[in-house]
Amino acid sequence: MLKKKKSYKSKTEFFKEYNKYLKSNDWKMRKKEFIRMADYKCETCEEEDKILHVHHLHYRSLGNESFEDVLVLCISCHERLHGRKFRRNMI
Ligand SMILES: [Zn+2]
Ligand SMILES: [Zn+2]
Repeated sequence: MLKKKKSYKSKTEFFKEYNKYLKSNDWKMRKKEFIRMADYKCETCEEEDKILHVHHLHYRSLGNESFEDVLVLCISCHERLHGRKFRRNMI
């Protein structure tokens, strides 16, 4: 489901850039806006009052995402989707 951008030399290089981006204020502001647009609910189970993650459906629009490019998920749905556990502070 996740498509890698061809312009990156390696997966490692991509994830380095990606992780840097996830820590940027730019993304933090965008993320807040997406969560607001999702009505502060997980888009899968409609769980409220939880820490919400914003999952990228693809990375083609990285840095310029629209609401269609992401999924607002609670931690359990996000973990289920990736098939692995996240640290609480890792969003
Ligand atoms: Zn959920
Ligand atoms: Zn994700």
